[in-house]
Amino acid sequence: MTKTEHTPPPNFIRNIIVEDVKAKKNDGRVHTRFPPEPNGYLHIGHAKSICLNFSLAAEFSGLCNLRFDDTNPAKEDVEYVESIMADVRWLGFDWDDRLFYTSDYFEQLYEHAVQLIRDGKAYVCSLSPEEVREYRGTLTKPGKDSPYRTRLVEESLDLFERMRSGEFEDGTHVLRARIDMASPNLNMRDPAIYRIRKVAHHRTGDKWCIYPMYDFSHCLSDSIEGITHSICTLEFEDNRPLYDWVLDELNVDGHPQQIEFARLNLNYTVLSKRKLVQLVEERLVTGWDDPRMPTLAGMRRRGYTPESIRNFCNRIGVAKRDSMVDMTLLEYCVREDLNKRAPRVLGVLRPLRVVIDNYPEDQEEELEAVNNPEDSSMGTRKIPFSRVLYVERDDFREDPPKKFYRLAPGREVRLRYAYYVTCVGVVKDDQTGEVIELHCTYDPETRGGWSDDGRKVKGTLHWVSAAHSLKAEVRLYDRLFKVANPDAEKGDADFKSHLNQDSLETLTSCQVEPSLGDAVSGSMYQFERLGYFCVDPVDSSDGSLVFNRTVSLRDSWAKIEKKEQQQK
Ligand code: ATP
Ligand code: MG
Repeated sequence: MTKTEHTPPPNFIRNIIVEDVKAKKNDGRVHTRFPPEPNGYLHIGHAKSICLNFSLAAEFSGLCNLRFDDTNPAKEDVEYVESIMADVRWLGFDWDDRLFYTSDYFEQLYEHAVQLIRDGKAYVCSLSPEEVREYRGTLTKPGKDSPYRTRLVEESLDLFERMRSGEFEDGTHVLRARIDMASPNLNMRDPAIYRIRKVAHHRTGDKWCIYPMYDFSHCLSDSIEGITHSICTLEFEDNRPLYDWVLDELNVDGHPQQIEFARLNLNYTVLSKRKLVQLVEERLVTGWDDPRMPTLAGMRRRGYTPESIRNFCNRIGVAKRDSMVDMTLLEYCVREDLNKRAPRVLGVLRPLRVVIDNYPEDQEEELEAVNNPEDSSMGTRKIPFSRVLYVERDDFREDPPKKFYRLAPGREVRLRYAYYVTCVGVVKDDQTGEVIELHCTYDPETRGGWSDDGRKVKGTLHWVSAAHSLKAEVRLYDRLFKVANPDAEKGDADFKSHLNQDSLETLTSCQVEPSLGDAVSGSMYQFERLGYFCVDPVDSSDGSLVFNRTVSLRDSWAKIEKKEQQQK
């Protein structure tokens, strides 16, 4: 990673850190963390948080930890732990030896909870979950004290210990902080800090049957790890007073500063593990790594590069207010990166057979093609030409409309890197009338695709030699959802009714140039005129080539940007 790419543009969090470093707060140290809950795969929203946390630490010669916030065993799994580590690494970041789990601190957290009880700052409450809700009040109505709020310290200590030893069933008791039932902030109305959950944990097994709540464990984990700036998303703004309360009441050594920023929202998709897990479990997509998913695993399989995602995260910036980012911006970043690195190749998605009548049947030749016009160091390659070719079905019209500059009866076009050809005949299926073959003549004087006599042609087509090309499957993807904001719909089930049923089109009889026989799994190419494609790492194997279309060549973001500038 280069330094420039590493350094995000200034933002309000960076400004806070600059001031803190200047003032020698925390002895000038910067220590951040990325704290995912292992209850699903990471999505592009997490990438924003990863880039922010790791890049800020790097910029100030600080450290960034990876911490699994694993306090809800019912929803968590080692599969998720492993995928998260793989995704963070793939994105280009390294936590060195600083891999932590909240579950590593369970004993310590328990001791802290006991301390709070001893200090009269927490009590075991035996209201039912419904009663707790009822007593909490609402934004307009103050809460009511639980009858257990005045429970003696000794009694709470005894009950808490027995909660730990498994004597009680789920939901019968909780440990609550004793704060203020009349607080205008609902989070401060004696929040639960420990609950009984008789579920095995993926790391601690059956050792624990009580688990700490997020608001209790998160701030303490940050403090234990010496975090200086605890960066999280806006929805935790109202939890900050509780974050500070716990650390102040326990009078622990380190007191990190919680700073909230706006989460990434991207149109035409959903960024919530809770929703994404439904798509996976209900088989509405093929898995977490389905190339239509906004997950890092899906994007990787689709051919998005880590560079393009990091670049996207830098461009969207870090703000204090929620907004919706246009998917076309992400696609623009992908295109920009692939344009530099992807070799160009010729591939035909919907082949139409073309016979060059005046090209000798037993002849073939090799033509030179440029691998990347953006990067001459990528050199050239040879592509075979012969009498029978395939061109794109869409590139022929028997009755061409205005401005259709491709093949039509009597029309001359250029075959890229090859020759000028003229359409002299059309063969149709007797039954259906469908065009099944074209006959053309070629001009031997135009080798390489250039004419000496200054004769111009308007169309340039891609093609492959039928005898040499390889069969491939190509998967074309469209938006996962039909509406820009599927999240805006009320209720969890509703978002699924907006799924785009046509988000995947599979083409099974594509033909690609023979050089792709050596294509490495996961590698990216530009199919000239068609877009960027990557070799599917899951379904491609020896003898079968499967490509995912990463992104088309059309750049709708550039158009949007131009329009916006005109409006200004
Ligand atoms: P989800 O709603 O998808 O489950 P989460 O916030 O519950 O997300 P966590 O695993 O708790 O997921 O998140 C780890 C970190 O990633 C947190 O610091 C969280 O704030 C951040 N994060 C999650 N989603 C986004 C997003 N859309 N944009 C920016 N940061 C995000
Ligand atoms: Mg969460």
